[in-house]
Amino acid sequence: MLTNAPKGTKDTLPSQVYKWHYVEKAFAEICAKYGFKEIRTPMFEHTELFARGVGDTTDIVQKEMYTFQDYAKRSITLKPEGTSPVARSFVEHKAYADVQPSKYYYNTPCFRYEKPQSGRLREFHQFGIEVFGTPNMLADAEVICLANDFLHSLGIKDIELQINSVGCPHCRENHRKALKEFLASKYDDLCDTCKDRYERNPMRILDCKSPECQELVKGAPMMIDYLCDECKDAFEDVQKNLTSLGVEFTVNPGIVRGLDYYTKTAFEFITNSIGAQGTVCGGGRYDNLMEALGGPPIPGVGFGLGIERLLLTMEAAGIEIPEPDTAEVFIAVMGDDAKAFGLKLLRQLRHEGIHAEMDVLARNIKGQFKYANRINAKKTIVIGDNELAEKKVAIKDMATSQQTEIAIDDILAELTK
Ligand code: ATP
Ligand code: MG
Repeated sequence: MLTNAPKGTKDTLPSQVYKWHYVEKAFAEICAKYGFKEIRTPMFEHTELFARGVGDTTDIVQKEMYTFQDYAKRSITLKPEGTSPVARSFVEHKAYADVQPSKYYYNTPCFRYEKPQSGRLREFHQFGIEVFGTPNMLADAEVICLANDFLHSLGIKDIELQINSVGCPHCRENHRKALKEFLASKYDDLCDTCKDRYERNPMRILDCKSPECQELVKGAPMMIDYLCDECKDAFEDVQKNLTSLGVEFTVNPGIVRGLDYYTKTAFEFITNSIGAQGTVCGGGRYDNLMEALGGPPIPGVGFGLGIERLLLTMEAAGIEIPEPDTAEVFIAVMGDDAKAFGLKLLRQLRHEGIHAEMDVLARNIKGQFKYANRINAKKTIVIGDNELAEKKVAIKDMATSQQTEIAIDDILAELTK
């Protein structure tokens, strides 16, 4: 127990962390090209923020949140998603008074009490972006385009962009009625969660993961057939913009996002290569979120992209991430004078930006060579009393075993050239 990580969490070990650095750098770079700035928000918020911002008919709020009382008896929740905190911060700092739109990106852990399986964890990580302050469908297309470019820039090909519209509160009402009528005779066979959704938010039944419910909703009325003129125009507009940008997509009327306050555009990037949890990225527009949080009526659009699923997808596609460089130089020393000289050299090399290492376990010279091999050092310098006396050292190329002799005073110049 003591030495096991909690269920649904994972260590990212040093041997793997370079993969995270790689995708994090790639994401930051593409966001910069699109003019998005990073935002960091707290790991926990007042529970109320998510109850409102995610919506209390959602799985997340109903049964997945890590909620606790702090010592002052405030209800606190570890963030289960990234959008509400960014929206909260936007309102709190009155960022709407700045030039609009506001474009944010983030990289955050998220916490959800779910059943752990491949691609589903209790602590997972998301890249996300948000555009606040424009109702224009060009923003939706840009958000989708950024996700598309990011995924493709990493070499991922086996992934499909599916888009849909979930309408607005006006047209959703008609769909809601039709859907409830359609499901009325099937109500008894719905899962317990969906029975609850039937009154509170029937559209979410379309998104149920249970195979029985998926069977029952076949042939159900789809939101896309109930769009009002404004939503219909918006949906055409976003498609036109995507086509102009050269982004390929398919329309899937079955896409229903998991969070409340979604309006109009909804989209997912889905792959078949990593099993059942194939949605790598999901997002859409949420024009009613900010107001629901008590802020001004400012529209927003964005996405969340699961980093664990991203890495699984890259692995499944055989995409190799370059491993970090190993030590450039290992300094092997024999004797106290050599050690003192070696330490001075070690520090100089590091100052010059060279990855240099020395033994810290008082190994004998054979052991030091072995260690240099184990850590894949590229070159080894051997320094002993003889070398110090003759003011010459040998630099051994570990791959070819070739040795070059150089004057001690030239080491730095030789290694930095
Ligand atoms: P799912 O369809 O898997 O239930 P979701 O609709 O709950 O996902 P979002 O809230 O849209 O997911 O989160 C955006 C992305 O975060 C997902 O597309 C996925 O890549 C990732 N994600 C969500 N939940 C988890 C989890 N429990 N473990 C790992 N990644 C997750
Ligand atoms: Mg989910």
